[in-house]
Amino acid sequence: MPQTTDADVIIVGAGIAGIATAHYLACGNTARKVVLVDALPPMSFTSAESGENYRNWWPHPIMTGFIDRSTDLLEGIARDSENRIKLTHRGYALATRQDDISELLEGLKAGYGADQSKGIRVRDRRDASDYLASLHGKPAGVDVLTDTGTIRRAFPAFDPGIRHVIHIRRAGDLDSYQLSQYLLERFRARGGSLLHAKVVEIFGNRSLQVRLSDEHVLSTPRLVIAAGPFVNELLAHIGERLPVHNVLQQKLGFEDVLETIPKEQPFAVDLDPQLIDWSEEERELLAADADFRHLAGTMPGKVHRRIDSSPQRRTLELGWAYNKEPCEPAWEPVLDDTFPEIVLRGAARLNPGLKGYYDELPPTRVLHGGYYTMTGENLPIIGPSATEGVFVVAALSGFGTMAACAAGELCAAWIDGAKLPEYGKHLSLERYADAQFMAAFSGVDDRGVL
Ligand SMILES: Cc1cc2nc3c(=O)[nH]c(=O)nc-3n(C[C@H](O)[C@H](O)[C@H](O)COP(=O)(O)OP(=O)(O)OC[C@H]3O[C@@H](n4cnc5c(N)ncnc54)[C@H](O)[C@@H]3O)c2cc1C
Repeated sequence: MPQTTDADVIIVGAGIAGIATAHYLACGNTARKVVLVDALPPMSFTSAESGENYRNWWPHPIMTGFIDRSTDLLEGIARDSENRIKLTHRGYALATRQDDISELLEGLKAGYGADQSKGIRVRDRRDASDYLASLHGKPAGVDVLTDTGTIRRAFPAFDPGIRHVIHIRRAGDLDSYQLSQYLLERFRARGGSLLHAKVVEIFGNRSLQVRLSDEHVLSTPRLVIAAGPFVNELLAHIGERLPVHNVLQQKLGFEDVLETIPKEQPFAVDLDPQLIDWSEEERELLAADADFRHLAGTMPGKVHRRIDSSPQRRTLELGWAYNKEPCEPAWEPVLDDTFPEIVLRGAARLNPGLKGYYDELPPTRVLHGGYYTMTGENLPIIGPSATEGVFVVAALSGFGTMAACAAGELCAAWIDGAKLPEYGKHLSLERYADAQFMAAFSGVDDRGVL
């Protein structure tokens, strides 16, 4: 006979989403037995591939409010733990060669909503010293640099053709592994337990039964599915499916041995679309091959780079979410080995010093990759599913590290029947019944994917 164990809540998935949810459920006011189950060691699937960046720059104020709340929680953890999670505040520098940025400013204001858009400061040459003095501080809001001299001084490694920089100040990076350890330690201290097993079946009527790969059966009135790219595989057991798809995204990391980017620079995004810097001959060869033709033409904007801020290291990480093709998730994702060359050349447009790596990348190079599990509108799905007692924390796309704390807190509020924050219902499945809300996403290209 299979052994049955009861738990007040079972969470499937010990990535950052499941861990944060477990933490907020176990550390709330209600005493309860919470069990976290994962087929792999904690934080070893998508969550291990994160670039670990955060930003409150989003096209829709619902996401801005949600990520601002998560950042409040991260800042609280940083304070309580002597910044064990290495939260930095260097910001995101969005660079463009466009002379007219009125559309960008409109988008920025829309994303911050009526209150916060007052914190957008357009700075000309007269404000240069104020801005430069604030570069390593922690001001709120956004600085929009219109003076190319100030841009040169603040961002000496940038392409001299950059006309405007939008510096998002509530942004930076963190150590997501340390965050997970902090949350797990507190979860365990409140009696939470972690099981290493794959969930192979979910069944039952009155109470939910979860069968594990070792034939153990767990019984619970509340089940949270935080299974990253495999959310629909699990929901299929109870006849449900979320409107999400998976897209493989990659990052290239290497030691900046040529010292092309000064340390302490903000995360930088080249907003402009571009033709990749191939030779004429390379472009012709690419254009002649149906599989690679897209690389010969105009590529989308938003190639980005981060320079590590630790005193001992000078690691560069390059990313470019140009892949849009949905795919079936695999437990061992197959990475695209042409990505390093593509992202390097793309990133060299904003940071011309990177051309020094065209012939050879340092041997320390590492290619990371995993799935952005996302909805079409690029909002997460957090809250009850259609089956009573089953909840989801899903579709965390390219923002799961920064969003995990607010996502876990929100799922716990749904389970407890507590008051939801303003963004709560819009981040649940209920939004699909709200045609007016969903209309804001139709025909909009910018979904905040980075
Ligand atoms: C290349 C890349 C860069 C990124 N950069 C950033 C960034 O800079 N900032 C940011 O905020 N986010 C970033 N992200 C996004 C972030 O990493 C993800 O949103 C986040 O890790 C998702 O966490 P998760 O817990 O939902 O999923 P996962 O980490 O995938 O966890 C799901 C867990 O569920 C388990 N599981 C699945 N099925 C079962 C089953 N049947 N039984 C038991 N266990 C199961 C899996 O083993 C896994 O451990 C990036 C993602 C990628 C791919």
